[in-house]
Amino acid sequence: MTEGCWLLSRNNPLHYSEEELALRRAFISEADRLLRNRFGDPPIKKQSDPLDTLIITILSQSTSDHNRDLAFSELKRRFPTWERAAEALESEIADAIRSGGLANQKSQRIKEILVWAREKSGGYGLDWLKDIRLDEAIEILTALKGVGIKTAAVVMCFAFDAEIFPVDVHIHRICRRLGLAPLKAAAEKTHQLMQPLIPPGRCKAFHLNLLILGRRICRPSNPKCEDCPLSEICPYFIYSDFS
Ligand code: SF4
Repeated sequence: MTEGCWLLSRNNPLHYSEEELALRRAFISEADRLLRNRFGDPPIKKQSDPLDTLIITILSQSTSDHNRDLAFSELKRRFPTWERAAEALESEIADAIRSGGLANQKSQRIKEILVWAREKSGGYGLDWLKDIRLDEAIEILTALKGVGIKTAAVVMCFAFDAEIFPVDVHIHRICRRLGLAPLKAAAEKTHQLMQPLIPPGRCKAFHLNLLILGRRICRPSNPKCEDCPLSEICPYFIYSDFS
């Protein structure tokens, strides 16, 4: 089995006992239900363009959503087509995305991705990713410099509605507080632990509701547990001195 398969499998790759797997799945289903009760089901948006999604996710690394959006808007303003951006110098791309931070590093990655996209398909579409197996698509994307499992999962989930659960910094933190991943787990480990547990068809909606929770309530410091829809099932809250 390839690493990609292991990352994506719902077939108990972590060798939980059947009982533990069932308990963990029930816990996630309950968390999903509680979040839906509070925040509703996120609106189903049109699938996003895969290359746009990939570039936006690169731009989002180590910056705020606001600065990421500014950087992407400026990039598109200066280079209305990806072909124009691919022909630009890295320094010109860096100038365009300066507001997103790490401009030199990100411009190099963006340029490499654009060249790769053109070489793969002769254009700048990545629709061919939906015609191959999900684990193959993840392996191809994560082989790109600067693209980890989170970025690849975001592309496949949001551009193709694939059954893959992206674990960003907010979700990584929440999963550890909920006891679903060890406190010292890396984000990739959390992804491996979570993927087999997500109810079919709920990857995108559960991800989006956890993002809302992480931004508004389960913040990095001083989480607002008293106002949290998950407090009744959260060990971080239940077993903390402040509970
Ligand atoms: S109860 Fe507190 S720690 Fe637990 S998920 Fe909610 S905000 Fe986060």
